[in-house]
Amino acid sequence: MGINMTAVHTHFIAGNKVEGSSGKFHDVFNPSTGEVQGKTPLASAVEVNDAVAAAKAAFPGWSQTSVVRRARVMFKFLELATADKDNLARLLASEHGKVFEDAKGDVQRGLEVIEFACGIPHFMKGEYSNGVASGLDVYSMRKPLGVVACITPFNFPAMIPMWMFGIAIACGNTVILKPSEKDPSVPLRLAELMLEAGAPAGVLNVVNGDKVAVDALLDHADIEAVSFVGSTAIAHYVYARGTQAGKRVQAMGGAKNHMIVMPDADIDLVVDSLIGSAYGSAGERCMANPVAVPVGDKVADAIIEGLKPRIAELKIGPSLDPAMEMGPLVSAEHHAKVKSYIDMGEREGAELIVDGRGYRCQTQGYEKGFFMGASLFDKVTADMQSYQDEIFGPVLQIVRANSFEEAMELPSKHRYGNGTSIFTRDGDAAREYADRVEVGMVGINVPIPVPVAFHTFGGWKQSAFGDTNQHGTAGVNFYTKTKTVTSRWPTGVRAGADFFIPTLN
Ligand code: NAD
Repeated sequence: MGINMTAVHTHFIAGNKVEGSSGKFHDVFNPSTGEVQGKTPLASAVEVNDAVAAAKAAFPGWSQTSVVRRARVMFKFLELATADKDNLARLLASEHGKVFEDAKGDVQRGLEVIEFACGIPHFMKGEYSNGVASGLDVYSMRKPLGVVACITPFNFPAMIPMWMFGIAIACGNTVILKPSEKDPSVPLRLAELMLEAGAPAGVLNVVNGDKVAVDALLDHADIEAVSFVGSTAIAHYVYARGTQAGKRVQAMGGAKNHMIVMPDADIDLVVDSLIGSAYGSAGERCMANPVAVPVGDKVADAIIEGLKPRIAELKIGPSLDPAMEMGPLVSAEHHAKVKSYIDMGEREGAELIVDGRGYRCQTQGYEKGFFMGASLFDKVTADMQSYQDEIFGPVLQIVRANSFEEAMELPSKHRYGNGTSIFTRDGDAAREYADRVEVGMVGINVPIPVPVAFHTFGGWKQSAFGDTNQHGTAGVNFYTKTKTVTSRWPTGVRAGADFFIPTLN
């Protein structure tokens, strides 16, 4: 692929593609070939200010548009994006590196939040109490916040933007989406489709960029709320700076999820589940289970024996080759980071059963892709740095436990608390695990326990800052504020001034 094929991306402000003016760009790779295929413009405060001004100008009209009409725009967007799904998935797979079918899943999981957003009239309903005192009625209404910023990571460039803008816009807000600079094409295309679906210009703007753009958003006086998903260090930073500026902030961070395997679990199901959960999307999922915790050595040995041939058979190659199960990592830099964690695990004394570091794609034209084979560690312990940190690559670590209590303690004490799974045939153990484990999302015989769109998504501990989850009713709460009206229509009888706070006696 020559330099002529490099696509120069834009921002999307007030319904128009806007070229960057900072002169700074971020390379967009095709991770399967290792070549640069595009350039993301990195916004300065100029583009951020323009986008916020456009969103602010669009807010009065959009927030006053009836909730039913707003829902119709979401229905239309659902129709257009569904029709465009293959195209979106191809763009996504080519920039992210996840395989095409998985990229379709990324789009689909986002569209499921849009389906939820189509029902927004129901969720915008307030409460009403009739006759709380003589002639006195009280009712509440939900109001949108204004201009909100949505800052998203590279690993779900379709789903996570839709988690956020789908609900924010349906609630009547206007949005600045600041997607990852690594894979900008899908977020830009989604913004075009929203415009086509009938969202007026300025309702959804996309500003591409890095820390400079994020800081400009966090400090901007006209932004009311910030929703962020990314790594923990940045999530904490965004939460601290955004709340300091008086904004409502939710900031989801990194993860290190554990799959507990009880002695009565179906080992074939466990092996299938671990292969998909730990190595799917090359391990670049915040709800993957990269740590397996077998209870008892017998279970651990059986899992390892089951995994070894399956890892050897894994089809790793170009993301758009339909025969492939796992694509490359997103960048050379991330490849080096994942490799350094495998080096660290060895140094720390874990047993490297399968080493994916040397994997090279042999297909012509893809030799320089950021591919890595699957790795498997046994005898990992809780004091190892490689266990405590998020690796975010195709590396599965086995931590052996001797009892249910010892197994449950691992995710409960880990600094991350995004997701966890337990595999067992025992309902009692599963119920107790779900009840007591100190983690925000739990799967029972489910390998990737991402809640469906009409429930809410959010981790605990260092996996999330702020107190509202993504999507579902929590999403509606985040993107709305309540106004409560206490109302009396005088009957004509005058009782004189009252100097004491009214009570319901
Ligand atoms: P990242 O933190 O590097 O980037 C996320 C966003 O922050 C991007 O838009 C990026 O441009 C911006 N950013 C990066 N550096 C910044 C800085 N110094 N100051 C301000 N903004 C900055 O994350 P990533 O590598 O794109 O995504 C992977 C991470 O996201 C993993 O840690 C993963 O676990 C996490 N993640 C979490 C969830 C969740 O819901 N908890 C979901 C998906 C991904």
